[in-house]
Amino acid sequence: MEMVQTIHCPNCGSEAERHHLFTSQLTRTQCPSCDYLMVTCSRTGRVIEAYAPGVYPAAIASLPGVVHKPHPLPSHGSSARSQQSVAASRC
Ligand SMILES: [Zn+2]
Repeated sequence: MEMVQTIHCPNCGSEAERHHLFTSQLTRTQCPSCDYLMVTCSRTGRVIEAYAPGVYPAAIASLPGVVHKPHPLPSHGSSARSQQSVAASRC
């Protein structure tokens, strides 16, 4: 189940989307204008994944639990495992 809310992007102010993913208990905010992305756990409020191009990378990097590197190559076999299922299991 999913609910989509239209918000203003905290990064560039354009119209962005906030997806409430009830099944995985995640809230995902994404902006098509500037590629802003923020995924938080709706249960604990913890930041799972965050990406804001240009504006405040230092603030993003200082968030706890955010792995600040591009998608790494899978080191042992489970390449079919999606980014999101990994994030949900940590949540
Ligand atoms: Zn934006």
